Amino acid sequence: MRIDAIAARLRAEIGADRVLSDRQQLRTYECDGLAHYKVIPALVVLAGSEEDVVATVRACAEAHVPFVARGSGTGLSGGALPHADGVLIVTSQLRTIVELRPEDERAVVQPGVINLQVTKAATPFGHYYAPDPSSQQICSIGGNVAENSGGAHCLKYGFTTNHVTGLRVVAPDGDLVELGGLAPDTPGYDLLGAFVGSEGTLGIATEVTVKLTRLPETVRTLLAAFASTDQAGAATSAIIAAGVVPAAIEMMDALSIEAAESAVHCNYPAGAGAVLIVELDGPSAEVEAQFTEVTALCEQAGAFEIRVAADDAERQLIWRGRKSAFAAVGRISPDYIVQDGVIPRTALPEVLRRINEVADEHGVRVANVFHAGDGNLHPLVLFDDGVPGEAERAETVSGAIIDLCIEHGGSITGEHGVGVDKARYMPRMFSDTDLETMHLVRCAFDPENLANPGKIFPTPRLCGERPGRHRGALDHEGAEVF
Ligand SMILES: Cc1cc2nc3c(=O)[nH]c(=O)nc-3n(C[C@H](O)[C@H](O)[C@H](O)COP(=O)(O)OP(=O)(O)OC[C@H]3O[C@@H](n4cnc5c(N)ncnc54)[C@H](O)[C@@H]3O)c2cc1C
Repeated sequence: MRIDAIAARLRAEIGADRVLSDRQQLRTYECDGLAHYKVIPALVVLAGSEEDVVATVRACAEAHVPFVARGSGTGLSGGALPHADGVLIVTSQLRTIVELRPEDERAVVQPGVINLQVTKAATPFGHYYAPDPSSQQICSIGGNVAENSGGAHCLKYGFTTNHVTGLRVVAPDGDLVELGGLAPDTPGYDLLGAFVGSEGTLGIATEVTVKLTRLPETVRTLLAAFASTDQAGAATSAIIAAGVVPAAIEMMDALSIEAAESAVHCNYPAGAGAVLIVELDGPSAEVEAQFTEVTALCEQAGAFEIRVAADDAERQLIWRGRKSAFAAVGRISPDYIVQDGVIPRTALPEVLRRINEVADEHGVRVANVFHAGDGNLHPLVLFDDGVPGEAERAETVSGAIIDLCIEHGGSITGEHGVGVDKARYMPRMFSDTDLETMHLVRCAFDPENLANPGKIFPTPRLCGERPGRHRGALDHEGAEVF
């Protein structure tokens, strides 16, 4: 009933064509990139302006109805999974680059702007937007902010949080607030820092000020082939230990190479148990010196072939295999789980070995393609949903990988976020007190627990219900797990 009232109010305020309530239309939004969680929202609003977002959030706040923000829907942790009794606010039509200020190294963009579009707009001015998720052709800046997204080049340049200086945010009560601005830092508590990575639980970003980075003078890219992931892991540690900070160090194992070959024919060296893609950028003289050092370190670690991209076309070819890898895995397996965990770089060889052992124990294959320089693993756990028991075994292996990451002093997520999928792992990494403190931050922004409830925190809680402990709130009832 409350939803019907909200729908009627919003149709009058922002236009009927922006408010969807037909079940078939709602179904389009039932999941994000993590398609095995599905919830049909009660209502979808296609925001066409900041005012639309304000009007929708205010209507939700007044009716005590939960809302969930959605950008491009490419998230891999179920962060944009709708609430069955709530409103899904889609920001993908907010696609204007409001202001490009290369002289200040800033761009002001609406949240639905696609990541790569920022770079495309800034390139003629000698700049680009550094955070580069593999999904950068489709994911939105608003989603990047909410997930604190990373990418291959975040090893040197940092994650989204290092590239956002200002936000306009619709707070969960419908108020419009500004956090940060054009300047690199502002006095007082770092509320901007709290918002970046908050997965839609602190409000909805309606405008984002990002840093633009100057295009490097030189970029050199090499592909080194090794017999094993052990050797490639050792090369990674040696490069970093030598004090070189490449723009990127990416690793692919034999199974992910097989998938990429069958999808995009990237022609990586035959018989490789692992390849490393190492990219260096910066002033030419520095890059050349470091390139010689990196080549020598790869050889010392056992590289049996090193290919150096002679020009941009060859560089693109090397990257094509890596960038296509997630989707390419569909060529060698009908279904797969993309896991995302972090370990200290030095633990790479051991953890990769343990992942293989766990996979063998459960009769499941795991392809590894990841940001080796950051120790950010992306094991792809392969299974066939048509074979009884395989999905469950894949789920067990996927959970065991997360345990391995925690055991080795790492994290349950590197860049894909906690969302609905990993909320259950939070207590393995954080104490009750840690979670309580995080929850108090959330309560400061969203005392009614209306913004994306049921995400990040394992136990649904209500702000201030009981001093010290917070329990019982809007939960994720209605989420079907497929
Ligand atoms: C093939 C593939 C490759 C990927 N590679 C990478 C990678 O290399 N690195 C990486 O980090 N991620 C990667 N991802 C995951 C995903 O693309 C990122 O998490 C991305 O930032 C999500 O953006 P989106 O616009 O699709 O957000 P959505 O999926 O729509 O939403 C993600 C979260 O952001 C919230 N949100 C969306 N818009 C807003 C807003 N305006 N204000 C507040 N909250 C908002 C949602 O509520 C949700 O919690 C990959 C995904 C795919 C499918």
